[in-house]
Amino acid sequence: MKSFHNPDLHCHSNRSDGHLAPADVVARALANGVDLLALTDHDEVGGIDEAIAAAYGSKLRLLPGVEISTSFAGENIHIVGLAIDHRHRPLLDGLARLRSGRAERAERIGAELARCGIPDALAGARRLARNPELLTRAHFARHIVACGLMPDIRTVFDHYLATGKPGCVPHRWAEVEQAVSWIIDAGGVAVLAHPARYRLSKAAFDELLERFQQGGGEAIEVVGGAHTEEETRRIAQVARRRGLMASRASDFHGLGEGPVDLGCCNPLPHDLVPVWSRFR
Ligand code: AMP
Ligand code: MN
Ligand code: MN
Ligand code: MN
Repeated sequence: MKSFHNPDLHCHSNRSDGHLAPADVVARALANGVDLLALTDHDEVGGIDEAIAAAYGSKLRLLPGVEISTSFAGENIHIVGLAIDHRHRPLLDGLARLRSGRAERAERIGAELARCGIPDALAGARRLARNPELLTRAHFARHIVACGLMPDIRTVFDHYLATGKPGCVPHRWAEVEQAVSWIIDAGGVAVLAHPARYRLSKAAFDELLERFQQGGGEAIEVVGGAHTEEETRRIAQVARRRGLMASRASDFHGLGEGPVDLGCCNPLPHDLVPVWSRFR
């Protein structure tokens, strides 16, 4: 039975808001010693075939993946699907619907930023997005930094784009159960992404987990680029208490963006069941 030494089960290419082409993500992961990689672009599987081709014959196994945007209690909740059939029609239809809502949302983000004194942000974000169907807040943030209006992406989010700020316009993504069922019906495993990032009360977080698990969600990101060590300990406890498998996930978007490079997360706490035990 194959065991994996350096899995990284969440990252982005330029088919969503990553900087690198899918083949370059795979090459970088290989150079960093990753032996199991999931490419998980936002609401998009268009980079998977290129990533599979780049991994072919190498020491890296590529899992087709996706990161689906959902709405719950006013927060954007992201659900990663691992080892999906990325040609499964109901999944593709659902993702296409999420992408089509992004264009109109981007216009509202542009209008809100204009009201805050940042003109032409939509055009700027569009210029930075390789996939015109997949404009994210990250593209807006990069544009504002590139214009010299703010020093870094984090500052832009803190001022304009984080939950509750003007550029985080209300939007209805998929329901949590809907995203989980698209993933399961496509043969995949559903993972709750970066759980420590959500601004939810304890009761709301418990309800989220309940709905996620009732719908068939099986794993949670415990170790990741978005988590501090204290948050990792807290989420590890959640995984134990609720019997969830654990994932390890850089959420890599590109060099110099985000705290962790591909394959450079800490190991999982030893007593947790790794989600990759499913992929042997
Ligand atoms: P969207 O899908 O348009 O809601 O954009 C979400 C993306 O914005 C995430 O996947 C990250 O790439 C980025 N993002 C969200 N929150 C932050 C943050 N606080 N700091 C930096 N990037 C963020
Ligand atoms: Mn992103
Ligand atoms: Mn995410
Ligand atoms: Mn992500």
